[in-house]
Amino acid sequence: MISRELIQHLELLNNLGVKELFLPPSSKAEILKELSIKYSTCTKCKLHTGRIKFVYGEGNPDALAMLIGEGPGEQENLTGRPFVGPAGNLLTNMLKAINLSREDVYICNIVKCRPPNNRNPEPEEREACLPYLLEQIDIIQPKLILMLGLVAAQTLLNTKLSMEKLRQTTHSFQGIKTFVTYHPSALLRNPNWKKPAWQDLQRFQAEYVKLLQ
Ligand code: SF4
Repeated sequence: MISRELIQHLELLNNLGVKELFLPPSSKAEILKELSIKYSTCTKCKLHTGRIKFVYGEGNPDALAMLIGEGPGEQENLTGRPFVGPAGNLLTNMLKAINLSREDVYICNIVKCRPPNNRNPEPEEREACLPYLLEQIDIIQPKLILMLGLVAAQTLLNTKLSMEKLRQTTHSFQGIKTFVTYHPSALLRNPNWKKPAWQDLQRFQAEYVKLLQ
């Protein structure tokens, strides 16, 4: 357990603009765990009213890559875990196809509580929740980001560009190489997008492999 004082100190550093923290691996896991408990009762936006479980994120706190989706769905709300259920299974298989597992990466969403009926999170909900994601990125310090779906991409990249345009470019988010592809739920709805999604994944994998060399 880390102390409340340490968390307050980290928050102070963040507010002062300190964006890079050099932390031993075990500390990262502990900090993420503490923060997840701390925020689990958040009421900053109306999505808390439908929350069964808060879905902070999971995976390797020292991951080279973070995968960021839109928000929890029904299964995620029930389990407290991101990307479970059919879309989660597809994501697991997509990772397998590029020789990665869920344990290699860190997986989370733009909003941490389920939007009702799986609607898109509204702008004010995204804005309210974004600091939690930015803090996760600060702690994990990934070298690559893969954004899953248009909502995640448009929110983090602060753009209105289409998926077609966004996925064809490598972006930089806070200096981190960032790729955009379809959300697994969208791929389940429209299998025609699987081919372009595979191309996106291969570009992502090529960058990931470079990091290992
Ligand atoms: S979605 Fe985010 S900001 Fe809204 S209540 Fe949940 S944790 Fe808080």
